Amino acid sequence: MPSPRSPRSHCPICKGTRFDPKLGLTRSGESFEIVTCSDCGFIFVVDPEADTANHIDIEKIGWAFRPRHHQIRRLLLSHLAAGSRIIEIGCGRGEVGYLMRNDPVEYIGYEPARGLSDFGIRAGVPITQTTFEGNQRADALVIDNVLEHVAHPAEMLEIAAGALNPGGILIVITPNVNDIRALSPSWRKRHLWVPPDHINFFSAADIAAMFARAGMSPRRFKFAPLSLQDFKFYVRALAETAGLSIFGHNVYAVKGH
Ligand SMILES: [Zn+2]
Repeated sequence: MPSPRSPRSHCPICKGTRFDPKLGLTRSGESFEIVTCSDCGFIFVVDPEADTANHIDIEKIGWAFRPRHHQIRRLLLSHLAAGSRIIEIGCGRGEVGYLMRNDPVEYIGYEPARGLSDFGIRAGVPITQTTFEGNQRADALVIDNVLEHVAHPAEMLEIAAGALNPGGILIVITPNVNDIRALSPSWRKRHLWVPPDHINFFSAADIAAMFARAGMSPRRFKFAPLSLQDFKFYVRALAETAGLSIFGHNVYAVKGH
C-alpha cells in the first residue's frame, strides 16, 4: 500500500513556489519527483511521504557508533564548560548521549521515532520522545544527519538557533549534494538520490542560507584547513580519516559570533 504523501508547495529554504523538474525516480515501488527551486537553486523531493520518522523495531537494532559521534563529542567538550546542557534534535538511539554519559555535561536527546528512542532509553540515555519545539534552552544544539530527512529543515535550524544560550554552539552534519563521490552513478543511486529517506539535498550555499536565516554563520570543523588550493591533500585527508563521510557538510556556528 502506498504511503501517504505531503507535497511541498514552497521551497523549504527560500519559500519560492516555482520549481524546475530535476529527476523522477522509483524506489521501493514508489515514485518520487525531485525538483530544483527556480529562485534559490535548492534541490528537494517535492512529494515526500507524510511521516519521515524512522519507525524501526527496537528488537532489530543495535548501537551504530560512527567516527562522527566521537568528533561531535570532541567538539562539544572543547567548547562547553562543565554543567552545560546539550540538546540533540533527532538523536536516534542517542549514540552521542551514550558516549557522553560520564562527561560533566547534561545531555537531552529528542527523538519522535519510537524504536530508536526506546533503544536509547533502555540503555540509559535521557531521550524525550517528541520533536523539539524550542521549549528548552541549551548551550549546545546538535543536528546530526537529520536535516536531509525532514519536511522543514530551515525551520528546524531556526528553532535550534533560537533555543541556544548566548555563546552556545550549533553543530550540523548532513550529506552534501555536491559530494565528490557523487561523480559515480552507482554511488549517486545508493547514497544520494534515496527517497523516501532523504528528501533534501543541500549544497554549501543552501547550508549557509539556512544558517543566515537563523542569524548565524557556519564554519567547517575537522577539515577546516582544506580549501580548493589544498587539493593535493584531499587524498591524504581521506586516508587519515577513513570511515568518515568527509565529503558531507560538517559545520558549526557559535551564537553571537
Ligand atoms: Zn528556494
